[in-house]
Amino acid sequence: MRVSNIRSGRICRMALCLLVILPLLYLLANWSDHHKRVQEAYHTRFGGPKFSHQRLENRPREVPTLVEGLGNFEPRDLKPRTGPGENGEGHILSPDKKNVADASEMEYGMNIACSDEISMHRSVRDTRLEECKHWDYPYDLPPTSVIIVFHNEGFSVLMRTVHSVIDRSPKHMLHEIILVDDFSDKENLRSKLDEYVLQFKGLVKIIRNTEREGLIRTRSRGAMEATGEVIVFLDAHCEVNLNWLPPLLAPIYRDRTVMTVPIIDGIDHKTFEYRPVYGSDNHFRGIFEWGMLYKENEVPRREQRRRAHNSEPYRSPTHAGGLFAINREYFLELGAYDPGLLVWGGENFELSFKIWQCGGSIEWVPCSRVGHVYRGFMPYNFGKLASKKKGPLITINYKRVIETWFDDTHKEFFYTREPLARYLDMGDISEQLALKKRLNCKSFQWFMDNIAYDVVDKFPALPANLHWGELRSVASDGCLDSMGHQPPAIMGLSYCHGGGNNQLVRLNAAGQLGVGERCVEADRQGIKLAVCRLGTVDGPWSYNEQTKHLLHRVHKKCMALHPTTQQLSLGQCDVNDGYQKWLFKEIRPHW
Ligand code: UDP
Ligand code: MN
Repeated sequence: MRVSNIRSGRICRMALCLLVILPLLYLLANWSDHHKRVQEAYHTRFGGPKFSHQRLENRPREVPTLVEGLGNFEPRDLKPRTGPGENGEGHILSPDKKNVADASEMEYGMNIACSDEISMHRSVRDTRLEECKHWDYPYDLPPTSVIIVFHNEGFSVLMRTVHSVIDRSPKHMLHEIILVDDFSDKENLRSKLDEYVLQFKGLVKIIRNTEREGLIRTRSRGAMEATGEVIVFLDAHCEVNLNWLPPLLAPIYRDRTVMTVPIIDGIDHKTFEYRPVYGSDNHFRGIFEWGMLYKENEVPRREQRRRAHNSEPYRSPTHAGGLFAINREYFLELGAYDPGLLVWGGENFELSFKIWQCGGSIEWVPCSRVGHVYRGFMPYNFGKLASKKKGPLITINYKRVIETWFDDTHKEFFYTREPLARYLDMGDISEQLALKKRLNCKSFQWFMDNIAYDVVDKFPALPANLHWGELRSVASDGCLDSMGHQPPAIMGLSYCHGGGNNQLVRLNAAGQLGVGERCVEADRQGIKLAVCRLGTVDGPWSYNEQTKHLLHRVHKKCMALHPTTQQLSLGQCDVNDGYQKWLFKEIRPHW
């Protein structure tokens, strides 16, 4: 019994072992098989067999890798092209076309007659860093909808945007191009456009607003109607550069809460010359000043150091607005753009603050470059949309954004810089605040400390205004006026008109006299509008309530008006001189 007992015991143990080992072996074999399949998929190169975009959520994501030779999506065998504007060169129209050219510039803010003579498929200068040509990207980057919103744009410029996207994007990543017409009234943007896109066999779709919505709401509409996994927004006057799309999609593929931004090159609005805006040595990122003007700053060391290669994406607090890529569902989960923002302005900040504070991130991508035509002026007006609101629309947008995303301290900086904004009716933001709560978003101070830490280097905390309003000369009744000039410029006096931007002056507690984002300075030539010294908020001025003098503490002289020439200068302070007396009169807008 004992023996048999022993034998039977052994058999039992062997059976048990097999029971445990066999399934393990089976699992192991299958796992390595699955692993091999994933690996194969990873290493399929552009032009290789197609495979499903279905995702295995917990599968490791392939990351871009720097390789010896040309990157997998780099164009090969590019044929040199000749003709007007080729290689991104400027094109000069013959002198007999001057009239049409001038007329089109007036109408569109850019020379459409010039664009009309340039091929839809023209080549552009490769403005990328050399290193960019040597990245391999995952093959199965998400299918993408490119959304282009437009209002009364030039036909050839709009269509060159479309052609450049089709010519320079891997076919299998370009799911569709959606043109959203924001109620244009130009004849050639209707049936001619419908007919033109037939050649794209459904790849290019057109949807039209039945009334003017402005670019912000029109973009949100495009996002809702798109069916790609990722959406890329472009302005209607762009040309994408070589291999622009894979580097833009790769960070989103790694993490769906990353929004990516291409580096913007300039396209000249007169000649259509394609040229870089930035020098090639340094990278820039988007920041802002306290009046919510968009600014750029060299990428701080702290951020540079997070990357191994100079051509890799880097994090940015914000972006210029027009061009970016984002996971479509993520964009909609964030509520798209605040629908209370009208027409133009502030939406870039709204989206940026929302993304960062609610757990996402923004990366600028050096290897993705897109040319954009910066127009001479804004050729459209805000139409009926402007009359829906009282007061300046863009500042109302800013107010909605800061009231939603800033904390009290930072809100105060905005109102110090834009005192009139306090009186603006921004409408109801309860839905925005509810979203912020629902998504459990972090504070603005967190954002400033961890992401936008370079903003205060350039635009430090703003001391409160001691006085603001129009600055009226007691002797002449005129007001200090920047005359709409760009700095450096001599300032003058003009008829007080109660609060146009050119006459709205602020004296802060540190002695800085500001007009908008500019500063008032004085030298031998007179009183000048100057660029404020970056990183400072102080200045030389003090105001004496009794004498009504505006004293320049460094020169120890007072701001004086010349009785006959009406010119402004610094004079020896004299309490009896009416021409040295000034009054700050706070403005109350009649909105
Ligand atoms: N746009 C629009 N509706 C508007 C104003 C502009 O659809 O009410 C479009 C415009 O055609 C362009 C994009 O929105 O494609 C961005 O506008 P714009 O280029 O004027 O802005 P900027 O580049 O000057 O910031
Ligand atoms: Mn634009």
